[in-house]
Amino acid sequence: MGLYTRLKEQFPRMDCEREFDFSRHTTIGCGGRAEAAASPADEQEAQALLVWLRRENIPYCILGAGANVLASEGLFAGVVVRLRRLGRLECRGTELFAGAGVTGGRLLAFAQQHGIGGFSPFSGIPMTVGGGTAMNAGVRELHFSDVVRRVLCVENGTLRTLEGRECTFSEKDSIFLKGVAVLGVTLRGKLARSEEIARESCYFRTRRHGLPKGRSMGCTFVNPPGISAGSLIERCGLKGTRVGGAVVSVRHANFILNEGATADDVAALIGRIKAEVARQTGIILREEIRRIP
Ligand SMILES: Cc1cc2nc3c(=O)[nH]c(=O)nc-3n(C[C@H](O)[C@H](O)[C@H](O)COP(=O)(O)OP(=O)(O)OC[C@H]3O[C@@H](n4cnc5c(N)ncnc54)[C@H](O)[C@@H]3O)c2cc1C
Repeated sequence: MGLYTRLKEQFPRMDCEREFDFSRHTTIGCGGRAEAAASPADEQEAQALLVWLRRENIPYCILGAGANVLASEGLFAGVVVRLRRLGRLECRGTELFAGAGVTGGRLLAFAQQHGIGGFSPFSGIPMTVGGGTAMNAGVRELHFSDVVRRVLCVENGTLRTLEGRECTFSEKDSIFLKGVAVLGVTLRGKLARSEEIARESCYFRTRRHGLPKGRSMGCTFVNPPGISAGSLIERCGLKGTRVGGAVVSVRHANFILNEGATADDVAALIGRIKAEVARQTGIILREEIRRIP
């Protein structure tokens, strides 16, 4: 029996898809397919789904806005868990609760409506709250680790609340990239006037205007200590390097652009960049992007 049919038998009312196409649901716009995808309607349904997938030994991956992932070509014989319907937003004093599926744009607009500031540096980062928390997304001025108070999550099938310090946040990493699913996050903001928030958000959005246009995953590699991965790649003369339709941006060398690429092209280009940087500098670049097998 196919995975879609098994899902529908177990969860007749759940929103499920057959043959999920990664190229349509990731910002890089390439990659193969998954046998099925499921979008639970609420936290209870999400927990039940995750428990069932584990019990049945079915491979799965969680996908947010797909802004930092590269899915391989071919068929992923598993289920894509999409938490986009977990869209609850609540304001309690200067704290906000946001469901994992809330987009960065919705989070910021909601915070502004309620006079809660402190999140403006996130303006313009393509993400869901779940993906942003898992990746500890951010810019120099602010990362999720700075504002996460508590995370409602599923760990080993159990619904739990983790305190910020239990999330083991580090550079582009957290406990949530190791099998713990984020369902919702309580974030600590601060009181601010709407105009002040608007001004700050505009500043951070404008600062992003210089980033490369086109389909990408944002930064491909984590910055090694004390140096930016982009400048390292540039110094190695790799700007503009191409494999098939995948090319190193000439604007920002840590961005790989999809100009008609397959996921294999992107993966091969990543391999070439790593090898060349290691050969010329001895530095081993760590991938920031997340692979889906
Ligand atoms: C043009 C562009 C600019 C970018 N600029 C920035 C930037 O300035 N700063 C920055 O930090 N990043 C940036 N990124 C990268 C990306 O926006 C962030 O990594 C973001 O956090 C990805 O969120 P997402 O919802 O798309 O997660 P996805 O890409 O869908 O997933 C990323 C990882 O998180 C996991 N994940 C997703 N949701 C959950 C969940 N609910 N529970 C557990 N795990 C989960 C996935 O399994 C995957 O391993 C940029 C990307 C692009 C395309």
